Amino acid sequence: MREPPSTFSVSSVFVVKGVVAVVWCLALAACATNPVTGKREISFMSEAQEIQIGRELDVEAQREMGVYDDRALQEYIDDIGQRLARNSHRPNLPWHFTLVDVPAINAFALPGGYIYVTRGILAYLDDEAELAGVLGHEIGHVTARHAAQAYTRATEAGLGLLLGSIFVPAVRPFGDLAQTGLGVLFLKYGRGDELESDRLGAEYAGKTGWDPAAVSEFLTTLGRVQELSDSRGVPNWLSTHPEPENRVQEIQAMVTQVKTSSPGAQWSRNREAYLNRVDGIIFGDNPREGIVRGNSFLHPDLRFALEFPKDWDVTNGKEEVIAKMPGQEAYVLLQVVERPQGRTIEEIADRNMRQSGFREISGGPTTINGLTAYLGSYQGSLGRIGRVMARAAHIQVGRAVYLIVAFAQPPLYPQVEAELAASVRSFRELSRGEADDVRPNRVALYTARAGDTWQSIAQRQGGGNVRATTLAIMNNHAVDDQPQTGERLKIVVGE
Ligand SMILES: [Zn+2]
Repeated sequence: MREPPSTFSVSSVFVVKGVVAVVWCLALAACATNPVTGKREISFMSEAQEIQIGRELDVEAQREMGVYDDRALQEYIDDIGQRLARNSHRPNLPWHFTLVDVPAINAFALPGGYIYVTRGILAYLDDEAELAGVLGHEIGHVTARHAAQAYTRATEAGLGLLLGSIFVPAVRPFGDLAQTGLGVLFLKYGRGDELESDRLGAEYAGKTGWDPAAVSEFLTTLGRVQELSDSRGVPNWLSTHPEPENRVQEIQAMVTQVKTSSPGAQWSRNREAYLNRVDGIIFGDNPREGIVRGNSFLHPDLRFALEFPKDWDVTNGKEEVIAKMPGQEAYVLLQVVERPQGRTIEEIADRNMRQSGFREISGGPTTINGLTAYLGSYQGSLGRIGRVMARAAHIQVGRAVYLIVAFAQPPLYPQVEAELAASVRSFRELSRGEADDVRPNRVALYTARAGDTWQSIAQRQGGGNVRATTLAIMNNHAVDDQPQTGERLKIVVGE
C-alpha cells in the first residue's frame, strides 16, 4: 500500500479514451502481415495504434507498479533488451525495457514494445543468459502480435474498462477481492502463443550471442516455483504463463536447432557479471509501500502498524492491504479513505460506509491507541462474497483517515468476531525509531563452503529470511540437491 496520489484524473481520461479507441479499431479491422510468420491475418490494430495503446498503458503500469530505483540496473536491463530487439522480427519498434518495483516473479509485455521485468524475477534468474531468455520471450509476444491480439480480446470482453477502474478506488469501495492488484494489466496468452514466444526467445537470445539453452533452464526454475507454490495471491508469471514444465521439453528441440545453425559459436552466460548486478537488490516487500512481518503490517513512511489475525494470508496491494483467513471467507482490509467527506470522524465514517452499501447496527466515537476513531458494527454485501457482517474503524492520523474493515459471511462471523475485533483495534502509530528499524531484505552473494546445506545457509547466512527450498530454487538447483563447495550463490539477508 502506498500514499495515494492527489488526483486520479489521468485514469478517468484513460477509461474514456480506451472505449473510443476500441470502437474505432473495430471499425478499421483490416488484413496485415504477421511480422513473425509472414502470413496475412486479420488485424484490429495498426502498428501506430499498437504503439499508441502501449504508450498509454505504460503510464498506468509504471504508476501502479512503480519503477525500481536503481539507474545502473535499469540501464543494464535496457541494454540487453535493446540488443535482443535489434535481432528480432520488429527491430524498428520503439522498444522500452523497465525494471518494476514488484516482489512477485514476473515479466510481461504490452503492445507496441513495452517490456517489464519485476525485481522478484531477477532473484530467481541464474545468469545473464536467463535474463536475455526472459526478455526475448516477452519480445516474442510483441513481435508475433500476441500482445496486441490479447489486448483486443480483453477489451472486446469488457476487461479493458477494468484496467481504468482498478486505479480509481471510488469506483469499487472495498475493492474487488478477486481482482487485487495488477491482474488486469497482465494479458493472457494461450499455450500456442507461449510456445511460440519460448521459441522466439531462444532464437533472439542465440542470435545475439547468449546461450539459448538458458530459456529451458529458467522454465525449469519456474516449474520448481510452481511445485512449491508459495505465491501470496499476487499475479505472477505462473498465472499468466501456463505449464512451465511441459514447455521445457518443447523448447529443447528449438535450442538444438539454434545451436546447430551456428556451429562453433561461443554462447555467453555472463553469470558472474549478472550476480554482481543483482547483489543488493530488494527482496520481498519494499518498506516504502509497507511491509508484512509475520502477522504485522508496518508502514514506516505513513508511520503506522496493524496486526492481522495470526497465520492469515496477507496481500500488500498498492491501494489496500488484505488479510484472508486460509480457506474461509473472512477478511481484514486496510485502506486510506480517499477524500474523506465530513467535519467529524463520525460523519466521515457514516458517509463512507453508506456509500459502500453498509448499514450500521451499532457504533460510536472512541479512541484507538490514542487516535481519534469511529468504531462500528455493520451489515452489507460484497460482490461474489455476498452478505457479510463487519466490524469497521475509521481512524484519523493527522489529515489522513484510515479504514480498517473486518468482515465474514454471517454463519462464520461469530467464530471469528473476537479475532476481527482485536485486529481492528490494533492499529497504532509507529515511533520514529520503530519506523527507522523497518528495513527491506536484500539479495546478497555468498560462496558455498564444504559441508554447507541449503538449510544451514538459510539459517546462518540468511538469518532465516527465506526457506532452504526457496534458496535452492533461486540458485538453479532442485530442492533435493545441495550446493557445491565454491559455488557462488544468491542469498537473502536482512539489514
Ligand atoms: Zn509468455
